[in-house]
Amino acid sequence: MTVGLSLVVPVYNEEALIRETLGRVRAQLEATGLTFEIVCVDDGSTDDTADIIDEASRADERVVALHFARNFGKEAALCAGLDAARGDAVILIDADLQHPPELIGRMVELWREGHDIVEAEKADRGRESLAYRLFAKLFYALMGRVGGANLRRASDFKLLDRQAVEALKALPEKARFFRGLVGWIGFRRAAVRFDVPERKAGRSGWSSAKLVRYAASNIISFTTLPLYLTAWVGLVTTLLGVLLGAQTLYNFVAGNAVNGFTTVILLVIFFSGIILSAIGAVAVYLAKVLEEVKGRPLYIVRKRRDRR
Ligand code: UDP
Ligand code: MG
Repeated sequence: MTVGLSLVVPVYNEEALIRETLGRVRAQLEATGLTFEIVCVDDGSTDDTADIIDEASRADERVVALHFARNFGKEAALCAGLDAARGDAVILIDADLQHPPELIGRMVELWREGHDIVEAEKADRGRESLAYRLFAKLFYALMGRVGGANLRRASDFKLLDRQAVEALKALPEKARFFRGLVGWIGFRRAAVRFDVPERKAGRSGWSSAKLVRYAASNIISFTTLPLYLTAWVGLVTTLLGVLLGAQTLYNFVAGNAVNGFTTVILLVIFFSGIILSAIGAVAVYLAKVLEEVKGRPLYIVRKRRDRR
């Protein structure tokens, strides 16, 4: 059986909202007049989410429920959704209604007009603390523009044509940054804007620690800038060292060498700091390489519930 649209929803502990979300996306999908399926990826939820989506799948054969063996993270859930989706186009949407389902109609229209990727962009970023805002700024500055995509406004709310889905699935890396990768693959794209509503219930699944780790991992897998930076710092300090050495030697020969114990200590501390940071940067990239080489699956499915 062919399916027109697949809607993929990553769900992690969303018992408070998932029923309403499913109802609202279903209404939007029905309005498109296309055949569709809804793939709910339960990312190891520990509340009643798993039962709720199983129940939704029993009540409506178009709903597929995938359950992860544990919490693998949203990126893994998105990948699993793309792997399971059979539609000619796939829409990815958050389960917490921060991505307005009412945009689906317009996104499908743009796809039918010939765009391969339709991205929903944040018109404003919603209410965020100052620290969060600064952190986000730093992150986007480091990430730069991936394939010309404006990451600052980017969200994971996207429609992808089958061709784009296959291109994404063919990328071999395990460290996934969906927004960045979608920018990287190219294709003909269009954008729609939306205001980010507040989360109505439940909690954001992102702790600060999780967010920092996520950002660091994305920077490491998307840019080698930190490595080049350490090389440049090394070069500059070597040049400085030559100049300082020449001066010291000159002073020694001229007989006016001061006894510079403090200077020596400061230099040792400063340069060992630089050296250790440089080794650290290399080590971090090496760890990433090791993770990729291990080639573990991105996620493990515990159970799948659908008609088939
Ligand atoms: N999510 C997930 N696994 C996680 C954390 C979140 O699948 O480990 C899902 C969550 O259920 C929601 C989406 O990813 O559908 C966005 O999560 P959240 O609202 O917590 O992120 P934020 O909007 O704060 O970026
Ligand atoms: Mg959210």
